[in-house]
Amino acid sequence: MSQGTLFIISAPSGAGKTSLVRELIDSLDGIQVSVSHTTRERRPGEVNGVNYHFVDVPAFEAMIERGEFFEYARVFDNYYGTSRPAVAAMLAAGTDVILEIDWQGARQARRQMPDAVSIFILPPSREELERRLAGRGTDEHVVIARRMRDAISEMSHHDEYDYLVINDDFTTALRELQALVIARRLTLERTRENHGPLLEALLSRQPDVE
Ligand code: 5GP
Repeated sequence: MSQGTLFIISAPSGAGKTSLVRELIDSLDGIQVSVSHTTRERRPGEVNGVNYHFVDVPAFEAMIERGEFFEYARVFDNYYGTSRPAVAAMLAAGTDVILEIDWQGARQARRQMPDAVSIFILPPSREELERRLAGRGTDEHVVIARRMRDAISEMSHHDEYDYLVINDDFTTALRELQALVIARRLTLERTRENHGPLLEALLSRQPDVE
């Protein structure tokens, strides 16, 4: 069996990345999301080990020291990182792996795994992004302005990615992500690795007919 493919997916907050990725892995077999480690506070509804592995700063820094992160970054005053052994085990088992990470982590991941496929998800318009970042309208103006600044800063790195998906219509964006995953599975290299006996049988010469 071939190694799985690493998919790097980044987006500004408000682009709908998490919902798209959840639906993507529910809709296809053989693909998983890597669960990151973070030092940020757990939000209501988040489950340790499912959304993130929530750890404190000393534990995170000890993991850095031991070289256990495939990539890590400080994002919005907190540490976030991807476990190297967890990702390596999934890829070795032939599972495709999605990293939902920021542009700094994406750079490190690409450097270590140049075959990775990187995808940036964009919102459909500036107005829609502002509306999504304003949330339920209870947040202070300065908080929303800060979110907008962070989103623009993340989007300024879109040109470092292989593919751009605009999340205007959810179903269309999902189909586009599925297409990217499926196309990668049909490359010559992976098909050869996964279907060696078939290709051999199809190509074996007929004995000459008298
Ligand atoms: P949130 O705190 O809203 O869940 O995530 C904040 C940001 O951290 C998002 O841009 C998300 O993609 C990024 N992030 C989540 N996990 C990782 C990770 O393991 N590594 C890196 N570099 N960024 C991450």
